[in-house]
This record gives sequence, structure tokens and C-alpha cells, in this order.
Amino acid sequence: MRELTHYIGGEHVRGTSGRFADVFNPATGEVQARVPLADAAEMDRAVAVAAAAQPKWAAVNPQRRARVMMKFVDLLNRDMDKLAEALSREHGKTLPDAAGDVQRGLEVVEYCIGAPELLKGAFTDGAGPGIDMYSMRQALGVCAGITPFNFPAMIPMWMFAPAIACGNAFILKPSERDPSVPLMLAELMEEAGLPKGILQVVNGDKAAVDAIIDHPVIQSIGFVGSTPIAEYIYGRGCSMGKRVQCFGGAKNHMIVMPDADLDLAADALIGAGYGAAGERCMAISVAVPVGEATADALIARLIPRIEKLKVGPYTSGKDVDYGPVVTAAAKANILRLVESGVAEGAKLVVDGRDFSLQGYENGFFVGPHLFDHVTPEMEIYRKEIFGPVLSTVRAASYEEALKLAMDHEYGNGTAIFTRDGDAARDFAARVNVGMIGINVPIPVPLAYHTFGGWKKSAFGDLNQHGPDAFRFYTRTKTVTSRWPSGIKQGSAFNFKPME
Ligand code: NAD
Repeated sequence: MRELTHYIGGEHVRGTSGRFADVFNPATGEVQARVPLADAAEMDRAVAVAAAAQPKWAAVNPQRRARVMMKFVDLLNRDMDKLAEALSREHGKTLPDAAGDVQRGLEVVEYCIGAPELLKGAFTDGAGPGIDMYSMRQALGVCAGITPFNFPAMIPMWMFAPAIACGNAFILKPSERDPSVPLMLAELMEEAGLPKGILQVVNGDKAAVDAIIDHPVIQSIGFVGSTPIAEYIYGRGCSMGKRVQCFGGAKNHMIVMPDADLDLAADALIGAGYGAAGERCMAISVAVPVGEATADALIARLIPRIEKLKVGPYTSGKDVDYGPVVTAAAKANILRLVESGVAEGAKLVVDGRDFSLQGYENGFFVGPHLFDHVTPEMEIYRKEIFGPVLSTVRAASYEEALKLAMDHEYGNGTAIFTRDGDAARDFAARVNVGMIGINVPIPVPLAYHTFGGWKKSAFGDLNQHGPDAFRFYTRTKTVTSRWPSGIKQGSAFNFKPME
């Protein structure tokens, strides 16, 4: 069995804890490798290496740090096909989708090339007599990131690229389900010129995460994953005095107004609901048609489109719409939730429960499902399913549709499909959700904006990437300097306002 490693101090290092996790090929169900699960001693070694390397890296001028990012972008483009293949093999998503995963990370690396501009401080000349005041943004030191299985290239890059561009050392604890691409990214960063020890990958599970939380040298934690773990890490991390940002689960609603272009809305729902087998935190999992006529017309358009979906292994190339889900446990959980929807009285208008793919019977494939007449009390509405299951909740009015999105505990993304600019503006202004699409089903902001949800979808004050990342990964220091002009005034004991 192939044994994966950690990446510590610029070397592939075998695990020493004695604990491993299986890494599956989700298309075949076979175990293709095992990944070591680090203990606190292994984490401690990585932290010591990072702490030793970081001050020198922070002292490299920001333009030179940016050049590493420039070269890294070239290397990502050079190795795009290789990265996409490795990603699909462990995650299961299609090759074009895997390349998109790398590309959306690459775009944040491109943004980080602007580090010299983004890290410029502020200067006030003559804040008082002979007094200048300036503030600078300094690196935190050793930072850590804990990432989910569903974007094994993009989310690590969203974290480590800004952290490193700011002069920090970064320890990545990727998902144990698909750890190969994060290891490849660390190698590529060093090929791009990054000194050893600045980006390290320590594989693991809860034990490695707890070692990060408890380590006194680690200054910040970025987390992306499910909400219960986000809440746990945010609570414990903050109480340890660390800077923490945690991004959690989602239940994204798409409101379809009676005046919407229904073919456009149906096409959008298919891509956003079933793309990547629904394993996206920005997937649309709830369709909310407004009015019975809209609902009937929308369902009539969705059914034939769903029936045409091609589900298959990534090795079929562009010929598949989505692949398997990540593990047998994920598949079992999705199918359990489908049963609960049926038991609670939702109408299963497209039933994917018997789906099986010839030659891939042991793969973790889940057929597409469409529910109609879902109500807010049902478990399939309350919980994140994270599978190819779209629920339809019929709303009688725009206000009722808006209230559904507002009342749900998650607030990552949402969309409205309409031809009415007034309704769209009202929706964007009032809804308590972080990322809004207007006739756009998956409104993932570009690298130079910021990404983050509201409510139980995010914990912390700052979003991911964009200018917020440069705030998260730096501390502000403000210097007040006075160079007396030669006029001596004696001591001052009161706190004087600036003249
Ligand atoms: P997960 O919460 O199971 O795992 C995420 C990370 O936490 C992994 O690195 C894992 O090893 C670690 N972890 C798991 N259990 C832990 C525990 N008990 N204690 C400490 N650490 C633990 O999430 P996942 O299944 O990998 O990813 C899917 C979830 O991520 C979904 O809920 C999805 O909505 C969410 N997600 C959110 C965003 C966002 O930006 N809001 C983006 C992508 C994914």
C-alpha cells in the first residue's frame, strides 16, 4: 500500500504516530493509499522548524516574496493537468471541475503578487510639532490552516498564499480524505523559491487539530469545514488567545420569481445543485419558486434536465457532469437523509436511490434526487445534505421566500432569479446572507473581493482572501516619532492633544 507522508522542513517525512487513515478512490471504492495521522510531537517538530525559518522570511522584502508567488503561478499552470488528475483521483470530482479547483486557488495567488502594495502602511507627516506617525502591517509568525476535503487545492491556497506573502510561516493540516494535492502544492512552492520550513504540510485528524489549537507558538488558525467543527475550533482557539477565522456549512436558497426566465433558472439550478455531486459549500440545495404556477413550471423544466445528467468516474473526461461523493459514509448519510425526506412527507419527484454504475458498483456514486413540497420543519431542509439532492420549497410570495432564507441558520450564499431590478435590489439589501447572486446561482466572489458567509456559516470578523486576508495575516503596529526641533519645553505630564 502506498504510504503518504508529511512535508516538514522541505522533506517528505514518514508518520511516526503509528496511526493512519485510508485514502480511497471514490470512483472504484478501493483504498489507494494511507495517510499518516500526526500526533502532538510531530506537530511540535513542524512548529519548531517554522518558528526558526519565519523571521528570515519576514525580513525578505515584499517584492521578493511576491516573486515567489509569480513563479508559483507559472508552476501551477505548468502542472495543471497533473494536479487535476491527482485531485480527481482522491476527491472524485470531474477533471474540468478539478482544474477549476486549482484555478480558483491560483487566482488568489495572483492577487497576492500585489503584496507590496497591500502591505503598505499609512503615514501622517506632521501629526504634531516635529511628530510623525506611521503604521505598519507585520507578520504574525507561525500560522496554521485546517482545510476540508471538497476543495483540496483552492482552500489551502486561499490560506497559505496570503499568509506567506505577508511574511508568515504556514502549517497546513489538509483533509485526510484527499491529502496528495496539498503535498504537491508545498513542493511547488519550494520549486518557486520559497525557503524550506515556510510552508509545511502536517497530515492528521482531530489529534493534529488539537495540537494546533494547544500550541503556544501558533498565532492564528484558519479553518474551513463543517459548522460543528468550526464552532469547536473557534471557541477553543479564541480562548487560547489566537486569531481565528472559521468557515462552516451552508444551505443556499435560490429564489425564483414569477417573472424569471425559467429556462435560465432551471439550467442554473442543475449546475449549482448537482455540480460536484452537490459537495460545494456554495451549492444551491433549496429552490424556492414563488407562486404555484412558477413552481409547477420550474419542476417541469427540471425533471428532464435531471434525467439527462451523466454521472460517472473522472476518467471519462468531459463526458460526465458529476462524479462520486467522497466516501461510503458520505453516501450512506445522503441516502439516509433522502429516506427521512420521504418519511416526513416530501415528494421525491426524481428518485436516484437505485442508481448504480456498471463496472463501478463499489464506487460512491449517488444518483440525482429532486424533492418537491419540502417544508421548513423537515430534516432535509434544516440539515446540510452535501450531496446531489435538491429540495423545492414552494413560497406564496416574495416576502415568504425572503423569510425562508432569512430564518435558516446558515447564511453562506443565496440567489434570486428575476427580471425585476427592484426585487433584486431589495433582496440584496435585506437578506442576512454573506454572498448574493442576482441571476447568478453560485456567487463566489473573485480573488480581489472577499469570501465569507453570515450566521452559522462563518465565525470571526474577517473574510477569506481579498484585502481581508492581508488584515487577518498581519498585526498593525503604529509608531509615533518626535524629532524635537531644538526648542526645549521641559517635561509634560498631562496627555496633551496634538497641536
Ligand atoms: P469536516 O468538518 O469534516 O472537516 C474539515 C477539517 O476538520 C478536516 O481537515 C478534518 O480533518 C478536520 N476535523 C474533522 N473532524 C474534526 C474534529 N472532530 N475535531 C477537529 N478537527 C476535525 O468537513 P469536510 O467534510 O471535510 O468538508 C465539508 C464541509 O465543509 C461542509 O459542511 C461544507 O459546507 C464546508 N465548507 C465550507 C466552506 C465555506 O467557505 N464556508 C467551504 C468549503 C466547505
